[in-house]
Amino acid sequence: MTLNAACQSLECYNDLVTELNHHSYQYYVLDAPQISDGQYDVLYQKLLKTEAENPDWIATDSPSQRVGDQPLSHFESVTHRVAMYSLDNAFDDDDMQEFYQRIAERYPEQSLMFSAEPKMDGLAINLRYEEGVFVQATTRGDGKVGEDVTQNVKTIQSIPLKLSGANFPTTLEVRGEVFMSKSTFEKLNQQQLDKGDKPFANPRNAAAGTLRQLDSKIVAQRHLSFYVYGWGEVSEGWAIPELYSEMIAFFGEWGLPLNPNATVVEGVEGMAGYYEKMLQLRPSLPYEIDGIVYKLNAIQLQQQLGFTARAPRWAIARKFPAEEVWTELLAIDVQV
Ligand code: NAD
Repeated sequence: MTLNAACQSLECYNDLVTELNHHSYQYYVLDAPQISDGQYDVLYQKLLKTEAENPDWIATDSPSQRVGDQPLSHFESVTHRVAMYSLDNAFDDDDMQEFYQRIAERYPEQSLMFSAEPKMDGLAINLRYEEGVFVQATTRGDGKVGEDVTQNVKTIQSIPLKLSGANFPTTLEVRGEVFMSKSTFEKLNQQQLDKGDKPFANPRNAAAGTLRQLDSKIVAQRHLSFYVYGWGEVSEGWAIPELYSEMIAFFGEWGLPLNPNATVVEGVEGMAGYYEKMLQLRPSLPYEIDGIVYKLNAIQLQQQLGFTARAPRWAIARKFPAEEVWTELLAIDVQV
């Protein structure tokens, strides 16, 4: 990526950290971004480049060292039993090749299979089930501590309050994306305008703002959606299958909603083919996606590769080109 040159001085780097932390706070804590995601990503890539060239400059409060931001104070804080990570980004074929090569060099003998999934533009949530009964929902927060949004999440019709079947672990945490469909978003914004309230900037913002409503009756009226794509704590002794895709299939059998467009592909060519296919499908999907997430399908390899401070080494988010509607949106005074 050569979007932006690295900082040549420590002062420039420190200013960049301060600027990014300001925008992170606006985005994650206040749900009120002041710049577009594309603009944020350019600054963030500049930060990563600077840190790669000057590892001794890395500040402890650099956004590269964390996931999101601290939780709001309205909701009860919950410490995640298993940390919730973000994802590293790829912006072009070169970034994808680099991601693939890094893994292929370590496992030259194996044909590498990847789960390929639309990257829903919503927010990550952790759902905890005890004996198959839904007991708690938490936001990602800073990855270590999130907010308890159980009451609000209970209003999401597609989330089972009880798992079906019998072979699930006694304790099961599943993770996935809460999002707002395009049609629900349009209806909500029309209602906002009819009431003389500000419309929301985009479905992600509307979903995040809705989940942070203190009145769950309002949340129920807004019809949020959910797809599962991962897990956190699983009872010790319960045998996790060998493949990520098998575990996700179990979730489907237990009644959790799966994204019907998720699939498994082989190698870097398989990932590229899926990207092209989804880029075509994107306008006709009922919800917004901002890219594709690829995850190494073999759980043993995932475990061997592990995590950096903020993201798994076995997964990547290939971003779609940004749809820049930001300037127009700012001009019409939206609620962000
Ligand atoms: P991210 O959105 O780039 O990727 C991680 C998230 O993807 C996960 O937490 C999960 O919620 C989601 N996801 C969707 N589908 C998934 C799937 N199938 N599998 C796994 N995860 C899936 O990372 P982030 O840390 O949530 O946010 C970073 C983004 O936020 C960047 O794109 C950045 O532009 C934006 N941001 C913008 C501003 C701003 O001021 N505009 C500030 C901070 C961050």
